[in-house]
Amino acid sequence: MTSGQSIIRSENWHARALKIIPGGVSSPVRAFSSVGGTPRYFVEGRGSRVIDVDGNEYVDLVGSWGPMIVGHAHPEVVRRVSESAARSSSFGAPGPNEVLLAEEMQRRVMAIERVRFVSSGTEAVMTAVRLARAATNRNVIVKFIGCYHGHADALLVQAGSGVLTLGLPNSPGVTPGAAQDTVVVAYNDVDAITSLFAQCGSEIAAVITEAIPANMGVVPPLPGFNALLSNLCKRYGALFILDEVMTGFRVSSGGLWSLVQSEEAWTPDLFTYGKVIGGGYPVAAVAGAAKVMDLLAPLGAVYQAGTLSGNPVATAAGLATLELCNDELYATLNRRAHEVGQVVSEALTEQGVAHRLQKGGNLFSVFFSPNEVHSFEDTQHQDVKQFVAFFHSMLTQGVSLPPSAYEAWFVSGAHSDEDIELIAAASKVAAVEAARSKST
Ligand SMILES: *Cc1c(COP(=O)(O)O)cnc(C)c1O
Repeated sequence: MTSGQSIIRSENWHARALKIIPGGVSSPVRAFSSVGGTPRYFVEGRGSRVIDVDGNEYVDLVGSWGPMIVGHAHPEVVRRVSESAARSSSFGAPGPNEVLLAEEMQRRVMAIERVRFVSSGTEAVMTAVRLARAATNRNVIVKFIGCYHGHADALLVQAGSGVLTLGLPNSPGVTPGAAQDTVVVAYNDVDAITSLFAQCGSEIAAVITEAIPANMGVVPPLPGFNALLSNLCKRYGALFILDEVMTGFRVSSGGLWSLVQSEEAWTPDLFTYGKVIGGGYPVAAVAGAAKVMDLLAPLGAVYQAGTLSGNPVATAAGLATLELCNDELYATLNRRAHEVGQVVSEALTEQGVAHRLQKGGNLFSVFFSPNEVHSFEDTQHQDVKQFVAFFHSMLTQGVSLPPSAYEAWFVSGAHSDEDIELIAAASKVAAVEAARSKST
């Protein structure tokens, strides 16, 4: 499908979409704004492959941004979803699937004492923040520059450069009031977070961080950084919210915390989850210590609700997916993540393209930059033109990468040796394009 790839049908759908849906998309990155060109309209997925409306097939390295951990249309997930859907899509009443899914999460993550389901990671974070403020009777939330926690007003805050900046809304429509209690700190900056606590620790309700930041590309925590955050929170009576929406049940059978808790003695007060726990359906959750979680209505006064929360079909998909996430699957994910990184990096090296393969567990991304990346500021030195050339070359050769230089790449348990070979061959061609596109 190399140079002869037709995308006429995708172009037609996108032209129609642009007339009725803002930007043609239901979520901004899908629009290809930062890479240009036409987003592909997908109609089918099987295992590691996705097929667009023109019949082009791609090796998928987006995986719906994380949820498709066992591959597309896994027969067991499809079976369980179909069975559940045939018995009704929703009751607005409790059901067994949500209990089973919560129990499965608790089995995998020892620190989980309670789970409340919602329908998106955004909602999970909103709820965690509300809980933290209620539990501490304080207002200030600390977040890190470049960490993404969904689009709740209080967390859509401009990341000023420099050590720490008082929150200014970075989206029109977010009032200064909604953002004024958010303080933003550079990621991996030990001095900045330590001095912030020294300055105003008694006002801080919570620190929220991505377990491994992966929404600015992958920027792993320096050794001990999460532990430091947890300790500071404990010392000053703030809550520590570990956002595992991306890492949860992906980087290990539990997530980042389960991966490190045998060596690092810290435990967050609250976790947020999403992505994998819905297996491609809208399920997310806030989880954690009973003494905080039980502040939620109806036990406590902190209100939180959802018409479709704990939806039986969606939780069936999540449960079926988690049941497939066994040791063998994690071994496969780790191996495939390593292999993809390796073949891409080799191809770029061969063409003299400066790049940096960044890893956090089996999450990885390729920065088109010679420097190590420890913070958002470090991510800003990429040669984005080279990424764009690489991206489009890969796409026309049948490899679908995230359409942005600032996103993680995702493998699944369904990726095969054949996929790796295809990615390796395509990378060799794409690396030549990247080398040619170097900014001067
Ligand atoms: C995706 C993501 C979110 C937001 O989840 P949505 O379901 O898109 O609202 C929050 N936090 C992290 C770390 C994420 O990766």
